[in-house]
Amino acid sequence: MNKTVVVLGAGAGGLTAAADLRKVLPAEDRIVLVDRAFGGGPGLSLLWVLRGWRTAEQVTARPTAAALPGVEMVTAEIERIDIDARTVHCGPAGSIGYDALVIALGAGLDTAALPGLPQALETGVAGQFYTLEGAADLHTKIEAMAAGRVMVLVAAVPFKCPAAPFEAAFLIADQLGEKFAGGAVRVDAFAPDALPMPVAGPAVGNALVGMMDTKGIGFHGGRSATAIDPHACTVEFADGTTESFDLLAVVPPHAPVAAVRSSGLGPNGWIPVDPATMATRAPGVFAVGDSTALLLPNGKPLPKAAIFAEAEGEVAAHQVARYLAYDAPDTRFTGQGACFVEIGGGLAAKGEGDFLALPAPRVTLREPSSAYHEEKAQQERDWLARWNIRS
Ligand SMILES: Cc1cc2nc3c(=O)[nH]c(=O)nc-3n(C[C@H](O)[C@H](O)[C@H](O)COP(=O)(O)OP(=O)(O)OC[C@H]3O[C@@H](n4cnc5c(N)ncnc54)[C@H](O)[C@@H]3O)c2cc1C
Repeated sequence: MNKTVVVLGAGAGGLTAAADLRKVLPAEDRIVLVDRAFGGGPGLSLLWVLRGWRTAEQVTARPTAAALPGVEMVTAEIERIDIDARTVHCGPAGSIGYDALVIALGAGLDTAALPGLPQALETGVAGQFYTLEGAADLHTKIEAMAAGRVMVLVAAVPFKCPAAPFEAAFLIADQLGEKFAGGAVRVDAFAPDALPMPVAGPAVGNALVGMMDTKGIGFHGGRSATAIDPHACTVEFADGTTESFDLLAVVPPHAPVAAVRSSGLGPNGWIPVDPATMATRAPGVFAVGDSTALLLPNGKPLPKAAIFAEAEGEVAAHQVARYLAYDAPDTRFTGQGACFVEIGGGLAAKGEGDFLALPAPRVTLREPSSAYHEEKAQQERDWLARWNIRS
């Protein structure tokens, strides 16, 4: 009997899983990839849209059949995953049964989880750079700023890409140019964690704080926002303090997407997975990328990053094939990963290491250089070249 493997979500993890499944499954087996849009950019490009170095159009990939030969692409809103019935429900687009499933639906943004944030975004005193439209809009807002304080606020944990809020602070300062250097506009970053990128350890966090300090960007760790007053332009924090801003650049609260929650695979919505194989507690169901809660040996979750989602996509593809009793490599997730920390002026630092190391991740932050900035640009070119093939 031919098998059907369904992959949910055509982002970093799902695209890789679908393409790699096609390499290991027999041609008669179906691979069905479902996404609501089949159009998005690599996360790292969002920062460059924020800085104004890219337009949203330039970094949007629209994968077609030519990029995914042998994969059935279904454009639909996934409403519900029924694990017991081995079926995915897609509303008017119908239901799809599966023999094996890969869930790669990413993380949702839940602006309503921080009181006052929806109104602050609505009235324009706040902007966010976690979507292409948001990043482009925030760029325009920063351009219009003559004086005052830009507050970069991490609203809650977990959030995608541990470096992104601090890269945003650097790039906002870079965009402001003389207005920042001359002191007319200040830039301050606030985060619930005591240090940036806590999973990488205090040495990396302190190094990043030092780099912000050198640039004149304030870092205020251990500050959990509880509410925003969009009229007074203030943020209230759990420690009872209040801070004012003239423009708020916010990392909105993240939440598991509804379709993922409907699977019941995770007690709080994020899906626990085997850190080596991406298997969930349901036989034949694997999950990769931002939808998951992959716990490291030190009990902290693996950061939500494309570099991990892609590696996990390959692992899941091979493990699905093995689950279906095919002869595929027993590929395991290694936890090796790297990310760039853009600091402006065409320079980027690079954090890299082994996130599954015992007893805790071993991560090194390498000095900013133009070579790392170029490496990041190459990653963007590779992504667009791989997935933006037109039919
Ligand atoms: C500002 C920023 C900077 C970043 N920089 C980096 C970086 O430098 N390096 C790095 O490695 N990572 C970076 N990331 C993180 C990276 O973008 C994500 O970790 C990665 O995209 C996760 O991949 P994923 O496959 O899990 O989810 P996604 O790529 O988010 O894909 C999820 C897919 O599921 C689809 N979907 C969701 N719900 C439904 C539904 N109900 N029905 C149908 N389709 C649905 C979506 O349309 C989407 O295509 C950054 C992220 C941000 C926001």
